[in-house]
Amino acid sequence: MDEDELNRLLGNLHTDKETIKHERPRDRLPSWLKDRIRIVFNNSCFKCDNKGDLVFDHIKPFNVHMVPMKNKNVCLLCRKCNLLKAELEPEDYFTTEELIMLIDLNDKL
Ligand SMILES: [Zn+2]
Repeated sequence: MDEDELNRLLGNLHTDKETIKHERPRDRLPSWLKDRIRIVFNNSCFKCDNKGDLVFDHIKPFNVHMVPMKNKNVCLLCRKCNLLKAELEPEDYFTTEELIMLIDLNDKL
């Protein structure tokens, strides 16, 4: 192996490492399910009732539990509430009543 080839291989290795480092796990929802979630959540933020700037969010933080949204782990939040929830566990962000309601809403999906 000559030096050029070695550098090329090391270069590839470096690129792969960088790719892996920046590649966060993604969880995508099919569009039919997004529509369904908007209907079930009345197209408003579950926490504050805001109608604008809504995002689909994991009830249990995905980076910790790896439960996809489609597996009854979804909530509709506005961006402000989504930022506040961040990586919090559901019981640290939602009240008990809200959690019961969330389970109920997810059962309707
Ligand atoms: Zn909100």
